Amino acid sequence: MLPALAPCLLAAAAAAPVYIRAGLLIDGTGGPPRRDQVIVVRGERIESVLGASAAVVPAEASVVDLSRATVLPGLIDAHTHVFLQGEDPAEGGYDAQLLRQGLAYRAARATVSVRRALEQGFTTIRDLGTEGAGYGDVGIRQAIEGGYIPGPRMFVATLAISNTGGYPLEDYAPELQLPKGVQIADGPVEARKAARSQLDKGADWIKVYMTHRSWLDAAGELVSQPTFTVEELRAIVEETHAVRKKVACHAYGGEGLHRALEGGCDSIEHGLDLDDAAVAQMARQGTWYCPTLSVYHYEWEPEGTPAGMRDRKRAAVHDPSFRKALRAGVRIVFGTDVGGFPWSDPMAQEFARMTALGMRPGDAIRSATSVSAEMLGMAGRLGVVSPGAFADIVAVSGDPLADIDALSRVGFVMKGGAVFKNDFR
Ligand SMILES: [Zn+2]
Repeated sequence: MLPALAPCLLAAAAAAPVYIRAGLLIDGTGGPPRRDQVIVVRGERIESVLGASAAVVPAEASVVDLSRATVLPGLIDAHTHVFLQGEDPAEGGYDAQLLRQGLAYRAARATVSVRRALEQGFTTIRDLGTEGAGYGDVGIRQAIEGGYIPGPRMFVATLAISNTGGYPLEDYAPELQLPKGVQIADGPVEARKAARSQLDKGADWIKVYMTHRSWLDAAGELVSQPTFTVEELRAIVEETHAVRKKVACHAYGGEGLHRALEGGCDSIEHGLDLDDAAVAQMARQGTWYCPTLSVYHYEWEPEGTPAGMRDRKRAAVHDPSFRKALRAGVRIVFGTDVGGFPWSDPMAQEFARMTALGMRPGDAIRSATSVSAEMLGMAGRLGVVSPGAFADIVAVSGDPLADIDALSRVGFVMKGGAVFKNDFR
C-alpha cells in the first residue's frame, strides 16, 4: 500500500505553477499578437496571461523560456485518419491495408500516427473514420487519455457510414464477400441504427459519405455519385443531434452535397466543387467547411487517362470553391486528411495551400485553433491561450504571420500542462 502522504505530494507537485515566457504570443482568438507575455499554467489549465513586466515568478514555480519563440495554442487538425498510412500504389494502396494488415498491426502503426501529430504541434485531432479498423480509434483515444501512449486529444468517428455501392473495397469479383472501409446501411431504419450503434460504442462524431465515385462528364465537368437520400441522412442527423453530437459529411459537389446540406449536416468535408447555391446555404446555415486541399495533390493517376483527368480536375475546381467559401464568410476549419497521405509528410503543408488561395495567415491560424475548437464544442477550452483553457501550447521560431511555413517547425509542445517536446531549451 502507498503511504498516506503520497497523493498529497502528487497534488502539491501538480499544483506548482509553470511560468512560460513567450517572446511573441498569438493567442488563437484573432487579436493582435502580443510581445513579451507570461503564461501561467497550473495543473492542466492556463491560469492567467500577463505582460512580462507584471509577472512575478514565485519560488515554487518552474519556468519555460520561450522568449525567443512565437507561442500559439496547440493546433487542431479537424480531419485525420490515424489508421491509414497513405495510399502509395507501390505499397498496395488503400486496399492492402484492409486485406493484408491485421488490426494489431494497424493499431501499432496508429500509435505512431498519433505521436506524429503531437510532435508537429497538433494537440487535438478529429479522426474521421478508421477505414476498416473497426472501433480501433476508441481504443487509441483511451490509451492516450490513460497516459499509456503520447498523442493528441481525439474526437473519433469510428466506422463511418455509407450505403451499398458507396465505398471500397470494390471492383473485385462480384462473388467475393469483402470487408468495407465503412459501415454499410440502406434506408432510414438501417441508417438510424448504424448511427445509434456507433454512438453507443464511443463515437464523438458521426461521419457520413454523401458522395462516392467521381468522374468527368462529356463536357469535362466533375460529376460525383450521390449516396444517401435526404431522408436517410436526416435519420442519422436526428439521432446524433439528440445526444448533442455532430455529423460530418464527406461531399465533393452536386446532388450529394446538396442533400448533405438539406439533411442538416454540420460539416462538409472536402467540398471540392461548391456551386454558388451550396456556398450560400453553408453561410446561411452556419455549416463548417473542412476543405482538405493538400491531399488532392497526391497520387494522381497518369495524365490523359480518365482517372488522371479526374484527379487533375478535382484539384483544379477545389481552388475556386475555397475562394468562394472564403469570400462568403463560410466558417473554414483546418483539416489535412493525413492518413490519406503518409504520416511522415508535414501536416502544416495545408497552411500554405490555404494562404495561397487568399486566406490571411492569421485566419489560417484561427482555422486550426479557435474556429476548429468552436466546431468541436470546445470554445474557450481548446484553441486559445486564455485563462481557463487547457494548457495546450506550442511554439515555433520565427513569426508565422509573416512566414506561414514557420508552423511546419514546431519546437515546443505542451498538452494539458505536460511538456511533450522542447527544442528551445
Ligand atoms: Zn478523410
